[in-house]
Amino acid sequence: PVHLSSFFDSLLETMSKVAEKKSITLSAEVPEELFMEGDEDKLRQIFLNLLSNAINYTHEGGNVKVRAVNRQNKDGEETVVFTVVDTGMGIPRKDLPRIFERFYRVDKARSRSSGGTGLGLSIVKHLVELHRGAISVESDLGIGTTFILELPLLQDNAI
Ligand code: ATP
Ligand code: MG
Repeated sequence: PVHLSSFFDSLLETMSKVAEKKSITLSAEVPEELFMEGDEDKLRQIFLNLLSNAINYTHEGGNVKVRAVNRQNKDGEETVVFTVVDTGMGIPRKDLPRIFERFYRVDKARSRSSGGTGLGLSIVKHLVELHRGAISVESDLGIGTTFILELPLLQDNAI
């Protein structure tokens, strides 16, 4: 099982240089005792992509925060709900349904500096689904974006 608190400590450490360069405050709020099953490398890829986006599409001096909480879904299954919250530029409402598509980028001009390909979120969605999880997004233009992921605490099959 993955110890989420250590997992995010090391992930944030990895990303601290890029965040510092933009004076972005990067933080995590994760219960100390929370462990979940899953493929650690794939989980790392998920949060690397989401946090890179959050940093990339947030102006200097902004905030990026990841939270994890343990809860029971409506079927009584134990899950972990993650949120990745930024105070960035936001995503226009009309683009929200398409951002998980391969190669989809909101606006070539604003995304150009990142040199991205538009694959990050499609990979995230794929890896979340491998864990039998779900991902959704809420965004307010000019205010910020929140990605919400709910993943089962336990996995009965190999991923
Ligand atoms: P890549 O991740 O492949 O380097 P990318 O970041 O452009 O390139 P995705 O990660 O798939 O591709 O994101 C798709 C698009 O969604 C981005 O181009 C950007 O316009 C928008 N987007 C993603 N995350 C955020 C965010 N946190 N805030 C604002 N816009 C975002
Ligand atoms: Mg990306």
